[in-house]
Amino acid sequence: MQISFEGKRALVTGAGKGIGRATALALARCGAEVTAVTRTQADLDSLTQECSSVTPVCVDLADWEATEAALQDVGPIHLLVNNAAYANLQPFLEVTPDQFDQSFSVNVKAVLHVSQIVARGMKARGSRGSIVNVSSQASQCALRDHTVYCATKGALDMLTKVMALELGPHQIRVNSVNPTVVMTEMGRLGWSDPEKAKVMMDRIPLGRFAEVEDVVNSILFLLSDKSNMTNGVTLPVDGGFLTC
Ligand code: NDP
Repeated sequence: MQISFEGKRALVTGAGKGIGRATALALARCGAEVTAVTRTQADLDSLTQECSSVTPVCVDLADWEATEAALQDVGPIHLLVNNAAYANLQPFLEVTPDQFDQSFSVNVKAVLHVSQIVARGMKARGSRGSIVNVSSQASQCALRDHTVYCATKGALDMLTKVMALELGPHQIRVNSVNPTVVMTEMGRLGWSDPEKAKVMMDRIPLGRFAEVEDVVNSILFLLSDKSNMTNGVTLPVDGGFLTC
């Protein structure tokens, strides 16, 4: 299946590393004009070195005002990937208010905010659009030490559905991908210990973690016209983990 984003403008958050970076590069390879948003300038420098057509935006998405200012001149966007997220693991009884607020402000509030900015533009121009939120299997399955992370991703799944409901009439589709573990920087945080990793892998019917490209391909599908009638789904990219 050939996917072309020729003539489309895309915005990807958390594009400095991992899944977001690979998504930004894949979109550019498919012909999209890509705006890459993240908070570490060095990552944006290396990204624009790798792909000179990418437009970099450096901002901490946990900061509502700074995000508003950074994206005010972003121009028309047809494709949005809300990928940036924060993970900080601890037992339930040790969760602090700061960890809770930091996680929710990036993983949920910033998704709402960036989507509002982009979707207002789509609606005003009367143009179709597609938004993909990067959720997780953790939205639907309790994982030890992941209290806040699971709660943010559960909230994100409902945000995805309500956005799909309200933005659908404007021909703006909203879906999520819900991956299992991917060995990015974030993945290594929770799953570097081989014993822990094995317990998780044994619960995945395909018996392996996801590769970055597995997630990117599902994101590209949901962004593209190949999924024209798909709206409001939370698509597992989990080798069957959520079936068990
Ligand atoms: P990484 O940690 O590798 O990359 C996350 C990117 O988001 C980084 O570039 C990071 O920048 C950026 N980011 C984080 N916080 C902010 C912020 N406040 N403002 C701007 N940018 C920010 O993560 P992954 O690629 O693994 O994860 C991508 C998505 O996939 C996330 O939504 C995650 O929850 C989800 N996911 C990941 C899984 C995994 O096992 N890896 C499994 C399931 C879902 P910086 O490094 O500068 O902080």
